[in-house]
Amino acid sequence: MKIRFDRWLAMLVTDSRSEAGKLIRSGRVAVDGETLRDPAAHLDTESVRLALDGKLLDGRLTRHMMLYKPAGLLTAARDRNQPTVMDLVDPVLGRIGCMPVGRLDKDTTGLLLLTCDGELNHRLLSPAHHVGKDYRALVRGRLGEEAVRAFAEGIVLSDFTAEPAELRILRTGEETSLAEVTITEGKFHQVRRMFAAAGHEVLELHRFRFGPLNLDGSLLEGEWRELRPEEVQALYRAAGMEKV
Ligand code: URA
Repeated sequence: MKIRFDRWLAMLVTDSRSEAGKLIRSGRVAVDGETLRDPAAHLDTESVRLALDGKLLDGRLTRHMMLYKPAGLLTAARDRNQPTVMDLVDPVLGRIGCMPVGRLDKDTTGLLLLTCDGELNHRLLSPAHHVGKDYRALVRGRLGEEAVRAFAEGIVLSDFTAEPAELRILRTGEETSLAEVTITEGKFHQVRRMFAAAGHEVLELHRFRFGPLNLDGSLLEGEWRELRPEEVQALYRAAGMEKV
């Protein structure tokens, strides 16, 4: 992909195109080892290497990450009043257009993917691709076989009927129960609403799988990492896209 030099540099290092232009004109930026002082030059982001003050920049504009979302943060690209998941990651990711794939509620924890590929993002969420997501839920009350049957049949909510979902009970008790649930949709508050319809309030909700990817057990809450090439490939495959 070709892009204007000052625009590319602005994404990578400063938020401001005019600042980027100043860096370029002052001769601090090298393109493939040679100083280039023309902010309007068009450069190929895939083949060209940029360096600022002699230090190589990571010029990639397509990146994919997984984040272990903690409770208490909004899943949004930005918000005027509250911190968002984007506050946890490298600011360059926001500048190059990386966005969360779908959303987790403020109090939900666990696996959140982020990508700069809008088409991939869209397809991973599209019901047509049936990308499964696994959640662990701590709920109020004793979960029983009737809940398992209700989830499998498709819970009827006020505005839609959920696709059949698999509920696996891990532990039941008088006060609380623990279960895993697999869904292939991603409607607003879907898991909480499904449990509520079955008579159980969700006390804690944690996502540990999204399509082919599990939350990396070595990540702590709030930590993130880039996806490995084979993980990226698996995601594109799950979305029915060829990885170029
Ligand atoms: N379903 C919910 O109810 N909340 C989430 O955060 C994710 C799925």
